[in-house]
Amino acid sequence: MARPLGFRRVRTHTSAYLRSGAIVLFAIVCVLFWAISTRALPAPRIHPLPALLAQWNHSSGDYFDQVRKTEPEYLIWSRFPVKVYVQPADLRSQTWVNLMTQAVNEWKAYFPLELVDRRDSADIFIDRASIPIRFPPTERVRFADTRFELYQQESVLRHLVTIRIQPNRPDLSLLAAARHELGHALGIWGHSPLETDVMYFSQVRTPPPISARDVNTLKRVYEQPTRLGW
Ligand SMILES: [Zn+2]
Repeated sequence: MARPLGFRRVRTHTSAYLRSGAIVLFAIVCVLFWAISTRALPAPRIHPLPALLAQWNHSSGDYFDQVRKTEPEYLIWSRFPVKVYVQPADLRSQTWVNLMTQAVNEWKAYFPLELVDRRDSADIFIDRASIPIRFPPTERVRFADTRFELYQQESVLRHLVTIRIQPNRPDLSLLAAARHELGHALGIWGHSPLETDVMYFSQVRTPPPISARDVNTLKRVYEQPTRLGW
């Protein structure tokens, strides 16, 4: 009787020992992986504010606490103007192009943007997505989303942004979506709790113009350190 029990105890002890060994090993691998992956990215530093944001001063509050950090920390552009390419029109989509262009021009009042006619020279690409967007990473609405990807150029960490906005929606809805997704693309990686802001998390019946709170939030983002552009 005693033998099998003792044997079992030893086995249990051994397997617990192995298990804790495996946990320690796993932890070491995780720490090493973390050290290597963060060492590969430049340390976060603060860039000078773009002139339009530096001049901006408005005391209406912000929702900076809702902005999330990403892998390169804050999504901050540091080469200006930031170049935007809107997918050109086909026979049926001139209105879509006009609305996207209008949204770019609205943000241009607060942030240095330039429309370009070559996709390969653009930082932000606005894509007239024809496929249904099922699980957008940033949105509750199902017809628009924004993604970013990282790349290295002459050992400087940079990002590219793609905005997808489906056509065949009411004009007001397309314009509101373009304003909102551009807000993400410029660096507001989060949502406002107030429906009077462009970055409100949900669609509203009467979409607001870019608010002072939207610009205040963008300015605060640009005052943060980032790994991008270094
Ligand atoms: Zn959003």
